[in-house]
Formats: sequence, structure tokens, C-alpha cells
Amino acid sequence: MRDIISLVVPFYNEGKGVLHFFRTIIPILEGIPDTGWEFVCVDDGSTDDTLACLLTCAREDDRFLIVELSRNFGKEAAMTAGLDAATGAAMVVIDADLQDPPELIPTMVEKWREGAEVVVGRRVDRSSDTAAKRITASWFYSLYNRLAKIRVPENVGDFRLMDCCVVDALKSLPERQRFMKGLFAWVGFRTVTIDYVRAARAVGTSKFSGLALWNFALEGLTSFSTLPIRIWTYVGCVGGLLTLLYGLFIVVRTVIFGNPVPGYASIFFAVTFLGSIQIISIGMLGEYIGRIYMETKGRPIYIIRKKSRFN
Ligand code: UDP
Ligand code: MG
Repeated sequence: MRDIISLVVPFYNEGKGVLHFFRTIIPILEGIPDTGWEFVCVDDGSTDDTLACLLTCAREDDRFLIVELSRNFGKEAAMTAGLDAATGAAMVVIDADLQDPPELIPTMVEKWREGAEVVVGRRVDRSSDTAAKRITASWFYSLYNRLAKIRVPENVGDFRLMDCCVVDALKSLPERQRFMKGLFAWVGFRTVTIDYVRAARAVGTSKFSGLALWNFALEGLTSFSTLPIRIWTYVGCVGGLLTLLYGLFIVVRTVIFGNPVPGYASIFFAVTFLGSIQIISIGMLGEYIGRIYMETKGRPIYIIRKKSRFN
């Protein structure tokens, strides 16, 4: 039986790389036995000739499906659009810059045929990234995995093969702000990891500036954790406790040594104690707002892999 697999690629101002990308990847994909391919290319509002190049490819090859977004929505949205449009029995998401080695796709397909539902590539060596990017990435992962309940595996990017049941599960998450790394981890499924070395970009430059990565990290943390607004209960409690201890200390000191500056101690105590109580109440509000926030995401309570009944 011949399976159709969809290759989903987001393109943003990759005009110089489109032809090179397909010239490299198509021979590799065609070498995989018993597999037909569909190339779902999402043009994420590029301002160069990316779209024109993609349309040229599509005219010559009916396996191409071009999805044009009306403006630049960002990679996460572009990938979502591609996965929504793809029809294959499995889908492979890959960047257009050939930083993820397409040579890995045959292995991914093999693992999928052996029963894996998700096959992810893990970068074992990030030396093609700048030191700053590597360090901030490792900070992000350790902070994220401490705060969020669902662990995101480190150094795993968007380069992955997913069975269509996994993609259906992703589509069943109605939330609008989509931090894909987190969502991929959230839906679960049988996952196999393959290690690879990430190459430098073939052509063009990275579309993610420091600020974009910072926003991306904030997005990831806030969409999977409410700790930042709930933590204030504990901060307030600790502050309140310290204030009480300090108050006690002042009382004892006054009893033993007398009171050199009348009024100071009581005012200081009142200010810090009330401050702590206010912080505690902000934390309490955070508890409820955090719950409201998670409820508004409307995520399904569980995801079924498959139901079986034998008789
Ligand atoms: N991309 C996109 N929309 C954007 C930014 C990037 O579709 O707003 C695509 C880009 O064309 C590429 C992939 O996302 O195919 C990864 O981008 P990039 O190589 O710049 O990211 P990096 O490898 O630096 O993380
Ligand atoms: Mg890249």
C-alpha cells in the first residue's frame, strides 16, 4: 500500500532558498519506498519573491499545495495553517532553510512504519547557533520545565514527523495562542527521538531576533504556567512572616534598651505588614485568574489514541 505523507514547510522571505530546498529534498523523499508525497508550502506573508518561486514549483508539479497567508503571522501560525491544509497519513514539518537534515526523513518514515506516532529530531550539537542563543535556550528550558507541569524535551525543534492522529489531536486544542513546542508535548503519543547535528543556514539569515525569541519564551511560559501570577501569595506570606519577626524584635529591643525614636517602629511595622497583606491578596486573585485563564483555553481533558473492542 502506498502512503501519502505531507511535507509541511513554512516560508518567510526565503526566496533565495526555495529552489535549492526542493532540489535537495525531493530526490531524498522520492528514494523512500512505497511513499507518495504532498508538499504543503505556507507562504507566511513574504515580501520577496518566495511566493512567486513556490507558485512556479506548483505549476510544474501537482504534488504541491501552496497556502498563502494574508500577512506575516509568524512561524507557529504558519505551521498550524500547513498542518490544517495537509491531508497525508503522516506529516513532516521542516524549516525551509535546510538547517534540519532532510536525510533524516527516511529514518523518520521507517520509525513511523514501525509504530511510532511522533518521530522528533533532537539536536545534539548546537554549535551552528551563537553562544548567546545556546545559553538563553538552555536557561529557557530549565526554567520552563521547572514551572510548567508538562516537560518539553530539550533541544527538540519543530522538525518532526507526526501521524495524522497526532495532528488531529493538535487540531482539537482550540486555544488561539499556540506555543507549538508545549502543545506537541501536551498531546503525548508514542514518541521516538532521533539525534542529529544542526547545520548552519543554507542561505539567508535567521528570522528570529533576540526580542522575538524573548517574546516566544514569555509566550511559552505563560501559556503553560500560571505560577508567575500565583507566586505572590508565597512572596506575601514570607514578607508578612519577616515583618512579624521584625516587630517582635523591636518590642524586645524597646523593652530592654528603651525607645530612641518614638513612632518609627510602629509606622515601619504597619507599612510593611499591610504591604505583605496586599501582596498576599494579589496572589489570591492570581489563584483564581490562573484558573480562569486555564479554563478559557478549553483544552480537552484527555486525548484517546484509539478505542478497541474485540468479540
Ligand atoms: N518562518 C516563518 N514565519 C516567520 C519566521 C520564520 O514562516 O515569521 C519560517 C522560516 O521561513 C523558516 C522557519 O520558519 O522556514 C525557521 O526560521 P529561521 O530559520 O529564521 O529560524 P531559526 O532556524 O533561526 O530558529
Ligand atoms: Mg533556521
